[in-house]
Amino acid sequence: MPKIENNISLVANRVEQAARDANRDPSEILLLAVSKTRSTEDIRSAINAGLTNFGENYVQEAVEKIALLNEEPGAELSREPLQWHFIGPLQSNKTRVVAENFNWVHSVDRLKIAQRLSEQRPAELGPLNICLQVNIDNEASKSGFSSDETLTAALAIIKLPNLRLRGLMAIPQSQQSEEKQKNAFSTLHNLRDLINQSLDNSDKLDTLSMGMSNDLEAAISQGSTMVRVGTDIFGKRAAKQR
Ligand SMILES: *Cc1c(COP(=O)(O)O)cnc(C)c1O
Repeated sequence: MPKIENNISLVANRVEQAARDANRDPSEILLLAVSKTRSTEDIRSAINAGLTNFGENYVQEAVEKIALLNEEPGAELSREPLQWHFIGPLQSNKTRVVAENFNWVHSVDRLKIAQRLSEQRPAELGPLNICLQVNIDNEASKSGFSSDETLTAALAIIKLPNLRLRGLMAIPQSQQSEEKQKNAFSTLHNLRDLINQSLDNSDKLDTLSMGMSNDLEAAISQGSTMVRVGTDIFGKRAAKQR
């Protein structure tokens, strides 16, 4: 089996095993292939292996690949439409392109970014799915709302007309022990439950975007509904020249 297909089946098995260990239904957990820096050929291999959800971090690179892959002849006949997730830091001068090209944004870290995405989302595409990024370990190097700010932000953002607030995303400090990994993920889960207490039934958050190559098992044990996996699908990334 070619490398990427093989890697995907290994990761899918890990997801399934982790779900089973947590008494969860594996179909509750979406495997998001993080394809930043990867070629369209690599992404095509992942599509051939059955994946349809891809995560990208760099706007310009992403829109070029999205245009190529969404418009592949016959693509819509042979598979579900691709779903593109923006997961990287988002500057306000890039929000329009993201609002026009993506299905999800996981990295909303300021109210202003949410407002711009809502204003710039083309009506015919329907609401843009978003997650609020939470800086769960209060790291100076990472963006995201602090845990204390997240509820207030959610209550403001839920009112924006062209967004659908789906949940929370975090990139915890990379941790040695599985115990520490679980602590961070359980904090995010508790925060989502707290926010849900203030939301109407129809608005309740259903998404926890947490877990990457190194900690997806811990994330799934704490309720992750989307794991974002790059390295363990596509191999090691070359350092990005920016
Ligand atoms: C790059 C990236 C990932 C994937 O990380 P791997 O360790 O390669 O699996 C996941 N989430 C975000 C936000 C990323 O930027």
